[in-house]
Parts: sequence; C-alpha cells; structure tokens
Amino acid sequence: MFGCVLRRVCWKRSGARRSVCTTQPEVRVRFAPSPTGFLHLGGLRTALYNALFAKQRRGAFILRLEDTDRARLVPGAADAIEDMLEWAGIPPDESSRRGGHYGPYVQSERLQLYSQAASSLLHTCHAYYCFCTNQRLELLKREAQRSGHVPRYDNRCRHLRPEQVQEKLALGVPRVVRFRLDSGAEPFQDLVFGWTRHEVAAVEGDPVLLKADGFPTYHLASVVDDHHMRISHVLRGSEWLISTAKHLQLFRALGWTPPAYAHLPLLLNRDGSKLSKRQGDIFIQRFREQDVLPESLLDLITHAGSGFNNNRIGRRLDELIEEFNISKITTHSALLDLDKVHEFNRVHLQRRIEDPHTRVELMEELRQRVLHTHGSDISDHAVLEPHYIQRVLQLRKQLKDVSAEAADIAAAVIQLVGAGGSVSSTERLNRELKLLTSRLNTTHSSLMRVLRLALSAQQKGPSVAEMMLSLGEQEVCVRLQRALEP
Ligand code: GLU
Repeated sequence: MFGCVLRRVCWKRSGARRSVCTTQPEVRVRFAPSPTGFLHLGGLRTALYNALFAKQRRGAFILRLEDTDRARLVPGAADAIEDMLEWAGIPPDESSRRGGHYGPYVQSERLQLYSQAASSLLHTCHAYYCFCTNQRLELLKREAQRSGHVPRYDNRCRHLRPEQVQEKLALGVPRVVRFRLDSGAEPFQDLVFGWTRHEVAAVEGDPVLLKADGFPTYHLASVVDDHHMRISHVLRGSEWLISTAKHLQLFRALGWTPPAYAHLPLLLNRDGSKLSKRQGDIFIQRFREQDVLPESLLDLITHAGSGFNNNRIGRRLDELIEEFNISKITTHSALLDLDKVHEFNRVHLQRRIEDPHTRVELMEELRQRVLHTHGSDISDHAVLEPHYIQRVLQLRKQLKDVSAEAADIAAAVIQLVGAGGSVSSTERLNRELKLLTSRLNTTHSSLMRVLRLALSAQQKGPSVAEMMLSLGEQEVCVRLQRALEP
C-alpha cells in the first residue's frame, strides 16, 4: 500500500522550450511575499516589475501571501503589504482582498492542494516519507561543519523498504515528505540570466516538501500555486535563481508545464552594501510618513535598475509601463541612491502641480492638512479657498522658473528695505529699484516680475512700488523671505 504504485516516469528533457501556441497565452504574474515583515524597497521593486510586465501585456497581477512559515508571521503584515501596494498605485488585480477566480490567495488556506500534490508525488515515487529525527539531522549538520563540508541531508530514508515505511507509519512515527531530486540538471532559459543549469542534486540533499505539522515548504507551495493560479511568468529576486532547478523538477514530476522565469538582479545600496531592513529606513510605510510621493519612489527604484530603453528622471507609472522592456534588464546589481529620494520627489511634486487633474487632488490634500494641523488657529479662512491654494502652488512654480535670478533679487530687496527709508514714497522706491536693476545686472521687467510674484503670487496687479508701500517694510521682508524658502 505504501510502495510506489506507478513507476517513476522519466520525463523528456525539453529544456525550457514551451509549446508553440498560435494565440498568445494570457500573461499572469504574481508577487508572492511572506508576511513575515512589512513591505520594503526590495519587495516593492519585485512587485513593481511584475505589475509593469502585466499591465504592458494586458495581463493579471496577482498578490499571493506565502504564510506557511507559521513561526515567523508578523501580525498585520499581510494587510499592510496590500495597503502599501495600493498606496504605490499598483494594486493587485487578484488577491484575498480583491478576490479572483484562482483563490484563495493565502497559502495557509490552500493546504489541501499541497497535500494532494505531495500524495501524488509519493504515489509516483517522486517523493518519500522521511522519519529522521531532528537529533539525527543536527548530528549530520555538525559532522559536515566539523569536516568543512556544506551540511546536507544524506537521503537515508530514500532507501527504506516499503514494509519499513508501512511499519513506521502504523506506529505513528513523526515524518516529513521529501522530494527525490533527480541527478540530471535541466537547463532553462531565464529571461534575464539566459541559459542556466544548476546540478541541484550534486550539492543538496532531498528537500522537504511537507513538514511534520502538515504545512508545505516554500518550494512545494510555490510550485503548486504557480500551476493552479496559471502563472505564466515568474519575476522574482535573483536569490531564487538556484531554487529554480528544483522547481522545474517538481513541475515535471507533477506532469505540469512550468512558467517562464525572469530573475531580477540584486538591489543594493549605492556603495554596494546590502539594503538592510534593520536600518528601518527602507520600509515603504516610512517613506509615506515622510511625504514621499509614491511615483517618486517607483521612479527612484526603476531608475536604479534596468529594464528600460532609456533612463530619465520624472517618469510616472503610465510612462514606466509604456517604456518597460524586460529584455533590457541586466544581470548586474541595481544600485539604489536613497539620498536622491528628495530630488525625485521635487520633480514629481512639480509634475503634480502642472497636471490639472493631479493639481486638484493636491490642493484638496493641502487643504485637509492645513485644516488638520492648524484647524482652530486659522483666523483668515481665505487661506483655505481653492484659488488661494492654487496661487501658492503656482507661485512656487513661477518662482522656481526664475529661481536663478530670484534669489539674488529678493535678497537685494530685503537688504534695501531692511536698511529703512526706501519704502516712503513710490517715487523713491522706483528710483531705488532702478539703481538695483543695474547693480544686479538684470532687466527692469525681470526684477518687477520676481517682486510681483513673491509679494502677491500674481502676475498682474497694482504697480510693485504701490504694493510695497501699502504692505509696509516688515511685511515686504517677510513675504520675500518666505518666497525664497525651498
Ligand atoms: N515567498 C518568497 C519571498 O518572500 C517568494 C519567492 C518567489 O517569488 O518565488 O521572497
């Protein structure tokens, strides 16, 4: 009863060649984080490249939660991951929150599928029960370390006779299910790393598929889900590249066609060091709290990596989708310069101000924030009017446009006014401003434009001198100073 009923099937080595279809199969990709922590830049990068690939090909982007490592689960992480994807503007098309035809999208709710797959592998002798105790495995590990070898399971239970297996099962001896690795290595063509071949059986012992608690390991669950969820392409970090040989063997043993694989290069700090979660500053939530715009973060991540025909600052999601080119992803590490996040943010904030749609949203957000932060302190409610907020935003932009000269002009006028006496009549003011024009080597119209914008956030209105006179020395200095703030 516990022997293999079927003889092991020997599959034809087909490399990664996929059957040629006349119609393109539907593109379905997945982001499969383990909710053992919150979403960080590395995870967002993987999610983003999957989303870009799916959206470019009108496919589906799926969020699957790989929560089978029960001991390391972090409460709240699963929800927070999806919240962050939504914030970033790349919500999944299918997930436990959104639903979909291929759910459940949480592995702990799919246990039956994994045990079915494990049974089928046991049945065809691609898998076997292993009764080795933790003490024995520990001993093997220590012996290997002592002799300078990489620890690996010695596949002892592979060789148990059917009646021995039957006896142990009848006695209820704790067991796991292991996959019988094939000694040949199937080459496959990774969409980023090219032809790859990894002789996994030469370096590793047979891997566990089902643990003693009945939960699957990552390898089994990931393969079973990629099959049942009809995943067409797996885009994931290059740390999984060597696991792919194992996954391909599992696909073949189960009689399934594997997806295509694309492994994304490592994402590192600019100095080549590892992005460390312990630094705390790579969590997406942190950027959000610091008012980093989501599009700035996506732009920063893709700017560091490859996968585009050209590299420029200021791309928004629709442009990233359009310009993404998977064949341009290179194998060398992507170096992320976190110090640049503010530069990216300035560029994207400016784009939001310029775009009429995003400007309206931004204005409303600003209004809510002013209300929230200053609420009862606001004496002049005109500052909450849309046209006032719009003027402030536009002033920021117009001043930026003339910023090269604006700083010098404003500083010189502050000095002039601060010295006293000049804001006494329009004639005197006009005389002094004219002298300033030649001293600063600028034109009268530039000087007036800067002052008008800085003082009134308008391009037209009463004469600048009249305005200065009615505002008074102190208010002129305050407004000029404020206009110069970054
Ligand atoms: N759960 C794995 C992770 O968190 C997913 C790896 C994969 O995409 O296959 O990285």
